Amino acid sequence: MEGLAASPGAAMGKAVCIASQELEIYRLSIAEAAVDAELERLAEAVEVAQQDLEAARQNASEEIAAELGGIFEAHALLLRDPGFLGRIEERIASERVNAEWAVHATAEELALRFRELDVEHLRTRGEDLVDVSRHLQRALGGLSHQDLSEIEGAFIVVAHDLTPSEAVRLGRQRVSAFAIETGSRTSHTTIIARSLHVPMVAGIAGLTQKVTDDDPLIVDGNRGRILLHPTKASREDYRASETRRRARWAKGVRGKAVPAKTLDGVQIQLQANIDLPEEIDEAAAFGAAGIGLYRSEFIYIERSPELPTEEEHLEIYTRMLETMAPNPVVVRTFDLGGRKLAREVMHTAEENPVLGMRGIRLTLAMPEIFAPQLRALLRAATLGPLRVMLPLVTTVEEVQAFKILVAAAAKELAAKKIEHSTDFDLGVMIEVPAAVWIAPELADEVSFFSIGTNDLIQYSMAVDRNNEHVSYLYQPFHPAVLRMIRSVAEVGAKAGIDVSVCGEMAADPNAATLLVALGLRKLSLSPTIIPEVKEAIRAVSLENARQPVERALGLATAEEIVKCLQDFLPTPSRRRLA
Ligand code: PEP
Ligand code: MG
Repeated sequence: MEGLAASPGAAMGKAVCIASQELEIYRLSIAEAAVDAELERLAEAVEVAQQDLEAARQNASEEIAAELGGIFEAHALLLRDPGFLGRIEERIASERVNAEWAVHATAEELALRFRELDVEHLRTRGEDLVDVSRHLQRALGGLSHQDLSEIEGAFIVVAHDLTPSEAVRLGRQRVSAFAIETGSRTSHTTIIARSLHVPMVAGIAGLTQKVTDDDPLIVDGNRGRILLHPTKASREDYRASETRRRARWAKGVRGKAVPAKTLDGVQIQLQANIDLPEEIDEAAAFGAAGIGLYRSEFIYIERSPELPTEEEHLEIYTRMLETMAPNPVVVRTFDLGGRKLAREVMHTAEENPVLGMRGIRLTLAMPEIFAPQLRALLRAATLGPLRVMLPLVTTVEEVQAFKILVAAAAKELAAKKIEHSTDFDLGVMIEVPAAVWIAPELADEVSFFSIGTNDLIQYSMAVDRNNEHVSYLYQPFHPAVLRMIRSVAEVGAKAGIDVSVCGEMAADPNAATLLVALGLRKLSLSPTIIPEVKEAIRAVSLENARQPVERALGLATAEEIVKCLQDFLPTPSRRRLA
C-alpha cells in the first residue's frame, strides 16, 4: 500500500488498530449479555472524565480566572445529572448499543432540545453538554486504549487519524511506527513522529479497512509504503535499510563541525527545530547552530488537561540555553489552536479552527493562560541569547499588544524582585500572506523574521496542510510561494533584520538549496536532517544558481519551475516536496 513518506525509518511489527478521538463515532449493536459490561465501562468512563474535569478545575481555579473553574464545576455536575447520565444508561440497555453511541446520541438529542428553546442560557447548556460528552468519549476511548499496555513487544499503530497529542502519548510507549489514513508531510502529527523518531506513513486511503489487529506489517517511512504480511525478502530489505540509516546518522554526528558552506564560500547557518525536550541533546549532537524554532505549545499538549507552570517553562528554556550556548535559542510562544489543543484550552469548538483562534490570537485573547510562559521567558532572557517569536501574526497591532503584555509581566516580576530581562530579540513568524505584504511595517517592530512555509503554503494556496485529498495543491515550488519568500528575504535585507526559514521546506535538500539561492542564510530544521541538507548546500554554487533561479521565478507553474531548476537542484529524483 502506497502513502506518503511522513517520518523516516522503517519498522516491523504487528498492527494495533485504534480509534482516534477525531474519528467518527459508530453505532455498534451489542448482545443482551454484554449490556452490563457496557454499563460498567460507561461508569468507569464517567469516573475518569470526572477526574479529568476535577484536575482541570483545580488548575483553572489556581491559574486562570475563577470563572473558568466554574465552568468545569458545571460540567462535573452535568456528568452526574440523571437527565443526562440516566438517559445514556437507558439507551445502552434499551437500544443495546455501545456506550460511545449512547453518549453521542443523548448529547445530540438534549443539545437540540436546548437549541430549539432559543433561550440564551439554555443554549450555553447545550454547548456544555457537547463538551461533557467529548470528555466522556475521550475517557471511553482511553479505556480501550489501555489495552495497549497488555500487548507484548513493539507494535504498529494503525488509525484513520491521530491528533498531535495522541502521537506524543503513543509515540512514547512501545509504538514502533504509525500508519494512518490522513495527514501529510507537514501535519503536526507527522512533525511529532519525526521528533520521536517513530517511522510513519500517512495518507493511505482505505488502510483501516485492509488491516486488522495483529496483522504483521512493515511500515517503510523512507519510501512511503506499507507491506502487509511481508515476505522474507522484504524483512531482510527492511533490516538492511535500517542499518544504513543508523550508519548515516552516525556519520552526520561525526561530521557536525563541517561547515554548511556553498561551493563559492557562502556560509549558511543550520539551526534546529525542537518540539520535545528529548531533542535538545540531538540538536547539539548534530551540530545545530542554535535552536531556530522551539514549538513551546508541546509543553501545553503534554501537560493537558493541566496547564504548565512558570517553573516548568523555565526549566526547559534554561536547559536549551545551557545546551546550545553560546548559540541563540528561539522560543516560539505557544501556537495552540488549529489542531493543537484548541478546544481543550478554549472549551468550545470552532467551525474552522485553522482560520480561528490560533497562535498569537489565542495568546492575546487569553493572556491569563500565557502569563506563566511570559514570566518564564523574561526570566530565561537573563540566562543567555534567548529570542522570542510570535506565531501566526497578521497585523502590526498584534505585535504591539504583545509588547504591552511584556511590559506588564516585567512590572510584575520587578515588584516581586525576581530577576528578569526584557532585552531579548523579538521576532515574528511570516506564515500568512498578510504578513508577507506588511513585512516592511513588521520589520519596524521586530528584530527578526522566520518564514513558516508549512502554514504559508497552507494559507496562500488555500489548502489544508493535513488534508490528503488536496495534497496535490500543497506546492512549495509554486511561483506564488517562491515569490513571497524572495520578497520577505529582500525586505529583511533592506531593513537589516535576520530572516530564516523554519518550515519543512528547510528540511528538504532541494527546497533548502533553492531557499539559499533565494537569499536565505539561516534555515531551521529537524536536527537529524541537518547532515543531509548540509551536504546539499556544500554541493551548490550560488553563482551558477543565479540565472536558473531568476528564470524560474518568472515561470507560471510549479512543474515548470522544477523542470527549469533540475540541473541546479541537488537530488531531483528524491524530490520530496515538489
Ligand atoms: C510553519 O508553519 O512553517 C511552522 C514552522 O510552524 P508549524 O509547523 O508549527 O505550524
Ligand atoms: Mg506554522
